[in-house]
Amino acid sequence: MFNLNELVRENVKSLTPYSCARDEFKGKTGIFMDANENPFGNLNRYPDPYQRELKAAISRVKGITEKKIFLGNGSDEIIDLCFRVFCNPGIDKMLTFTPTYGMYEVSASVNDIKVIKVPLNDGFQIDRKKVDPWFSDKTLKLIFICSPNNPTGNSMDYSDVEYIIANFKGVVIIDEAYIDFSDKPSFIKLGYRYRNLLLMQTFSKAFGLAAVRVGMAFADPAIIHYFNKLKPPYNISTINQKAALQKLEKVVEYKNQVNKIIKERERLSAILKKMELTERVFPSDANFILVKVKNASQLYNMLIDKNIIVRNRSSVIDNCLRITVGTRTENNQLVEALNTISK
Ligand code: PMP
Repeated sequence: MFNLNELVRENVKSLTPYSCARDEFKGKTGIFMDANENPFGNLNRYPDPYQRELKAAISRVKGITEKKIFLGNGSDEIIDLCFRVFCNPGIDKMLTFTPTYGMYEVSASVNDIKVIKVPLNDGFQIDRKKVDPWFSDKTLKLIFICSPNNPTGNSMDYSDVEYIIANFKGVVIIDEAYIDFSDKPSFIKLGYRYRNLLLMQTFSKAFGLAAVRVGMAFADPAIIHYFNKLKPPYNISTINQKAALQKLEKVVEYKNQVNKIIKERERLSAILKKMELTERVFPSDANFILVKVKNASQLYNMLIDKNIIVRNRSSVIDNCLRITVGTRTENNQLVEALNTISK
């Protein structure tokens, strides 16, 4: 059985969080003489520490109650907080399926947490047999699953993910940064059945706000409570909260952009498949395409010479480049460059 109380670090449980001026007085109007702010200007006041207006809008768009929402300075802050809430440095472990997004491992290392890397199978799917032995390890606190996965682009099998959540006594973090580009269902509904799920999404991809740094976590309010306890009081600036809020008011515009990117992904994949340069073009549920070529490092450099920058992922998957889908014009320029190179 999942027991949150047993999982959270003792120092986090006993911690008295910093109580900022906006925690003590929550009203919006009055003469504010409590936070040592400058009385002049229009960005002179500290932001809402709990981003209430933005959470209310996210709640409407996603259909998730505000109590289950935590916002971080990008998903990367949320990843770091997962370790700081649950993992004792030098003692505890996390498990993830490789190749995957590199920040899980970096953030674990920053927090002195050991990383168990379980390789995905040939189809980039989870091999349950390789996870089973770890369920009984009491120092294994977190399992990170990225779906759709970066850099492979595929979604994880629904029943494999549910199997892990159902059998693991720690917390499962599902990173759905790319979910809006996928036609597979989100894992969000599993949150109603299992309390040990923390699901992440972000404003950086489909919403087109990577510069703004707002990541979302959806989890049981009991988990959210600890994240609020640990976070810096004003972790999302007023400007960033506003930018995210404005984007949510333009749902149609962002959905149109997502549809365009998906169409371009399919068009670009089809063109790449026909090229002699490519050995394999992997199917993608994300806004990038993983492509296997004969000599990835050479091709990467040749593209740089033509002012086109893709990601060389050969260090994690043999001779693979990860190509982010651009605008139609940008994608055509890439195709043109590849055609010139292959001549
Ligand atoms: N998760 C995944 C799988 C990613 O690929 C990335 C960025 N490349 C992030 C999270 C980072 O998200 P954010 O910008 O919200 O920190």
